[in-house]
Amino acid sequence: MLSRRRILDRFEQTVLRPARSPIVIATMSIFRPIALAVAAVASLAGATHALAQDKVLNLYSARHYQSDEAMYTEFTRTTGIRINRVDADDAGIVARLRAEGAASPADVVLLVDAARLAAADAQGLFQPIKSAKLDESIPANLRAAATPDGVTWTGFSTRARVIVYDPLRVKAEDVATYEQLADPKLKGMVCTRSGSHPYNLSLFATVIERMGDEKGEAWLKGLVANMARAPKGGDTDQIRAVASGECGVAVTNSYYAARLLKSDKAEDKTAMEKIRVVFPNQGTSGTHVNIAGGAVARHAKNRDNAIAFMEYLASPFAQEYFANGNNEFAAAKGVKIDNAALRAMGGDDFKAEQVPLAAVAKNLTKVQQMLDRVGYK
Ligand code: FE
Repeated sequence: MLSRRRILDRFEQTVLRPARSPIVIATMSIFRPIALAVAAVASLAGATHALAQDKVLNLYSARHYQSDEAMYTEFTRTTGIRINRVDADDAGIVARLRAEGAASPADVVLLVDAARLAAADAQGLFQPIKSAKLDESIPANLRAAATPDGVTWTGFSTRARVIVYDPLRVKAEDVATYEQLADPKLKGMVCTRSGSHPYNLSLFATVIERMGDEKGEAWLKGLVANMARAPKGGDTDQIRAVASGECGVAVTNSYYAARLLKSDKAEDKTAMEKIRVVFPNQGTSGTHVNIAGGAVARHAKNRDNAIAFMEYLASPFAQEYFANGNNEFAAAKGVKIDNAALRAMGGDDFKAEQVPLAAVAKNLTKVQQMLDRVGYK
């Protein structure tokens, strides 16, 4: 891993670079003529207003980032489809969809983490869609399993589940893999948030997919045996706990570390100076990546608009906004996000785990049962 000095150097060198990559600029110039054409057709018909009213998309979103506004505005500008947005957290959106049932106005649902998407899918809240554009642009391992009817959920950004450690207490070579978190060498040092949190459920589900049930459960047991304290707090709390010396090693989603790295607060800067970030399993299976993603709602009334919106989210233009809003990586093939903090952490070029996130859906219940058996709170 990079030294703190080099991290800072790289951060300073790159922070002033233009954020937009050439591929994104090229795409924007494609969007403009389409928008002009749409506007021309609308005004020819003398029905700009009516067109805007007839073309609607109801979006239920668990993502709330300032930069998303520009992404939605561009969709409306280029398609004439107005977006009505309902913002809530993931649990709130799922509860609302369930309560509304067939009367739900939701067309597209955006949730965070494959475990949450898989759970909502298992409750029948989504519908499969067929889209050549999505098939082409989003890797199959970042989507629900394909069926003859199509695919339900699709990832639109990715985040890595990284290891952070205290270099004063832990050697880099002892925390190079997720497997090592269960090594007795790290006894009394490991911290995580609740094992049942979707971020951990997803990680464990793919670990178990790779290792098999027996080894997977033994790994979870070893992890629990190594804990510095009972699981508590969120991912940022784990980073702070490593920085404060309470924990020697912890697990966090990459964007939380990036957020602290970009922070102007002295306490955040100090915290990030005290820790190191590892993208685990680079020599083996790759670092676990998860998604923020979306699906067409089961009872969508504006299904065509919903599919058009999903396809738009996979476009290079929208991908940049979607990823940058939360310091994430693009999900679409060939789209590279320029984020100085992620690059400084070593996130510009890492080997990602290729286990399909559909395995999360498959293993979710099994993982929860294992957590109960090994006493992972
Ligand atoms: Fe989060």
